[in-house]
Amino acid sequence: MHFASDNTSPVPPQILDALIAANHGYAMPYGADAIMAEVRTAIRETFEAPDAEVYLVATGTAANALSLSLLCPPWATVFCHRNAHIEEDECAAPEFYTGGAKLTLVEGADARLTPEALREAIGFAARGGVHNVQRGAVSITNATEHGTVYSAAEVSALSAVAADYDLPVHMDGARFANALVATGATPAEMTWKAGIDVLSFGGTKNGCMGVEAVVLFDPAHAWEFELRRKRGGHLFSKHRYLSAQMAAYLKDGLWLKLAARANDAAARLSQGLAALDRAELLHPTEANAVFAAFPREAHRRAQAAGAQYYLWPMDQSLEGPGDVPLSARMVCSWCTTDEEVDALLAIVRGD
Ligand SMILES: *Cc1c(COP(=O)(O)O)cnc(C)c1O
Repeated sequence: MHFASDNTSPVPPQILDALIAANHGYAMPYGADAIMAEVRTAIRETFEAPDAEVYLVATGTAANALSLSLLCPPWATVFCHRNAHIEEDECAAPEFYTGGAKLTLVEGADARLTPEALREAIGFAARGGVHNVQRGAVSITNATEHGTVYSAAEVSALSAVAADYDLPVHMDGARFANALVATGATPAEMTWKAGIDVLSFGGTKNGCMGVEAVVLFDPAHAWEFELRRKRGGHLFSKHRYLSAQMAAYLKDGLWLKLAARANDAAARLSQGLAALDRAELLHPTEANAVFAAFPREAHRRAQAAGAQYYLWPMDQSLEGPGDVPLSARMVCSWCTTDEEVDALLAIVRGD
């Protein structure tokens, strides 16, 4: 019962096999490897974006922070949700890589931005001329940090607000595959056709060993990105091992199959919990993460039985009256089985 995060899962055999296959002979370094050329072509085809530039890094934090550094000068601000990963989980890397830009946090239920709230935040910023931080960029996470998703139309509506202020739009797609599978949108519809300028295209949470792609739909900043990646220490020397993972991930739609499995497992868990009087869903389950509250005594039994997940927020205690509901985050991955889900449900039910 492993629900702590999707990054606790192992690597699917197709990706590990690709790494082993790449481990023959010599390959040019720093992204000049032959497999990177395949990855570039595959991403351009997948996104119907022949001019896009594609770069690989090893963490989502690097992908996000480097992307935002292209879009937002040091004296400007990135508008994002208050629960955005760039705000809560990146230890000020976006601020560091942008050279000190600010994040402006926008509220919204289920970790989703609304066009109205975004417009209000952007409109409020920078009214005082030289004294204010300036408007820089918008960052949208899909799937969100609370397991919800934006449809392509919803992304377009947010981008339209940004466009009214001439702001570029970044998408944190650490769980991009989960969002696509959930909405049925094509990669193009969810990104450049919906006004996204730069995408952090996640691999690791959905099964890769450690690789994320940065996709620049406007190649104008490509050289600048290369310089920033190198300067930031994120240009891999033995790059073929990043390329091999990403190539295998994209091949034959593996990335979408992995995400579909994770989303299905989460839907099963969510429906099972929703059917119980003693449990309550805290956010709609639209991708691969389930947020629910259930009694402390059930958490104690689950954790005693070895179930792994986080109490969310993390500062809740298992000590105390057993009937008090505690909230938890349970994340499914490409290898979550129905048996694991059913075992956790049985414990929460008290079977
Ligand atoms: C995990 C995650 C990332 C990337 O995190 P790293 O630990 O730096 O790889 C980025 N955005 C979201 C929404 C995430 O969940």
